[in-house]
Amino acid sequence: MYEKICKNCGTRLSDYLNTGYLGCPECYKAFSEEIAYSLKRIQGSTENKGKRPFESSVDKELLDEYKRLLSEREDAGLLRDFDKMAKLSSEIADLSRELKKRGLI
Ligand SMILES: [Zn+2]
Repeated sequence: MYEKICKNCGTRLSDYLNTGYLGCPECYKAFSEEIAYSLKRIQGSTENKGKRPFESSVDKELLDEYKRLLSEREDAGLLRDFDKMAKLSSEIADLSRELKKRGLI
């Protein structure tokens, strides 16, 4: 059976689907379709209840990843690693768009 794998960290799509956890930022790109689908599904199921969908593992994972990227960028800043900072900044921008859409930040 064909399975998507994150080339960066080796996390398999089935790992993500089973646990809801991603191995690294590249996973978001590798599994972007599946993540978008599960986000949509969660949004649909929580909208009716009118409460913030904070308990889902995807939400938590996105927020954790967001915090991790922020602190990584801070570290890169301290090391004056501007290439890394720029790369992290664009990942943070992508992620924060998703988080804002979800009302998490
Ligand atoms: Zn990965």
